[in-house]
Amino acid sequence: MQKPNTRLAGQTCIVTGGSSGIGAAVAMAIGQEGANVVVNYHSDAESAEQIAHEISKHNLCGDAIPFKCDVSKEDQVVDMFQKAINHFGTVDICIPNAGIQRDFPLHEMPLKEWQFVIDVNLTGQFLCAREAIREFLRRGPRPDVSASLGKIIHMSSVHEVIPWAGHANYAASKGGLVMLMQSICQQYAPQKVRCNSIAPGAIKTPINQEVWSDPESLEKLYDLIPYKRIGIPDDIGSVAAWLASDESEYINGTTIFVDGGMTCYPGFTENG
Ligand code: NAP
Repeated sequence: MQKPNTRLAGQTCIVTGGSSGIGAAVAMAIGQEGANVVVNYHSDAESAEQIAHEISKHNLCGDAIPFKCDVSKEDQVVDMFQKAINHFGTVDICIPNAGIQRDFPLHEMPLKEWQFVIDVNLTGQFLCAREAIREFLRRGPRPDVSASLGKIIHMSSVHEVIPWAGHANYAASKGGLVMLMQSICQQYAPQKVRCNSIAPGAIKTPINQEVWSDPESLEKLYDLIPYKRIGIPDDIGSVAAWLASDESEYINGTTIFVDGGMTCYPGFTENG
């Protein structure tokens, strides 16, 4: 583990889906900046415990605890925030990151698979953001640790702007996140809440393993990435740590694309 910069010392962050992939890297990056971290998981207790242990064992990092919660369930999200507040005193940063895919051509998509993805990817983000804002407003400013009342960083996707045939539930959940994030900013920026999104491109995690583990599919993927490499979870972790810090204080209500240029539509390079 690198020496921490501690830009987030004295703050507490909840990272949902912190047991795997992007969420695990984000939890580590935030912990390395000195914040306490609640490493939320849904099924993989062992990984969440390991990430929390990694953060806690370095005395220059913040403390960390694993916490099981299904982000699509209101009572569980409320309970997670309450436990985090009881344990660490408050919550300063919320990074709703948990997300799933259930892929079907639209005409074959069962309602329950549509609903499942919307429940986790969109409703889960709403529930976490709502509880975070309630806590920010209840607790009031902490100018000793941050210029902002609190920070929310939604984990979106390039599919908040790029349509995705065969993944309409996922694309709709990420498209919905844009308006959720911007509406939160519009409403709470006057109280100094910052609400932004990170939109990763293709990042090497278990969610897309069938693409990067097959050399032919990986080569095809590079056609979509001008920078010609697949992203790694740390590419997102470092941006999340910066976006949570006061170094990005004037950034509010926007999406930061971390995609190697994928949203520059490389298919149009040779005149379309
Ligand atoms: P991942 O490795 O599959 O991790 C997904 C995480 O979400 C796991 O920690 C999982 O927990 C958690 N999770 C799933 N359902 C949950 C629920 N109901 N409640 C709480 N946690 C739940 O995926 P990833 O690639 O890191 O994706 C993380 C986020 O980045 C997602 O929002 C995804 O849409 C977004 N994203 C990923 C990419 C990419 O290329 N990888 C690109 C764009 C956007 P357990 O393992 O404990 O069950």
